[in-house]
Amino acid sequence: MSARQILIVEDERPIREMIAFGLRRAGFEVIEAEDSRAARARIADRRPDLLLVDWMLPDVSGLELTRALKKDKDTRDVPIILLTARAEEQDKISGLDGGADDYVTKPFSPRELLARINAVLRRTGSTSPDEVVEAGGLALDVAGHRVTVGEQTVPLGPTEYRLLSFFMTHPERVYTRSQLLDRVWGGNVYVEERTVDVHIRRLRKALEAFGCDQFIQTVRGAGYRFSTRPV
Ligand code: CA
Repeated sequence: MSARQILIVEDERPIREMIAFGLRRAGFEVIEAEDSRAARARIADRRPDLLLVDWMLPDVSGLELTRALKKDKDTRDVPIILLTARAEEQDKISGLDGGADDYVTKPFSPRELLARINAVLRRTGSTSPDEVVEAGGLALDVAGHRVTVGEQTVPLGPTEYRLLSFFMTHPERVYTRSQLLDRVWGGNVYVEERTVDVHIRRLRKALEAFGCDQFIQTVRGAGYRFSTRPV
């Protein structure tokens, strides 16, 4: 679950496979869709960390798909990069108007695409697989799938790891229990909201030994926040 998942929406199979190949090699998990309809089905299954959407799709255009996803509260936080063969400035403007986070014009090199993906993920608070995120003495090693304090590894269960990893990459923001369920557990699971509290408790306990439990803050009537500043 730690690798960032990217959904490629592109009807031209050779291009889709070429992109997928490059991204997998860069450590991303890749899923593919050949049109907007298939894309929506994949997203309903599990929300990806980023979408690459081709402008020219056989059913609904990539721009319309982007607009629709950005209007939906469940998907509006998912960053979208539009791919297009059109280079005109006007398209670029309407692409960003439609809510796309960035825009890449074909033909592009795999290296260029990767740089744009990493830039968007950084900007939107996600991380690339080889990044280390630090906060208040805690170091999240995304590739190593662990959190350390100095030389010591914080002992975490898989859910606590995902929770802490989410918090560390989305600091200083309050998340409701249902948002946490969606972002950490995935959209398609049926878990009660109080399950979140159980795992928050376990996470705090694991962090307590390192003097970091106060970073997981309860915001009454709202939810939880990760912050290294005092309450
Ligand atoms: Ca296409």
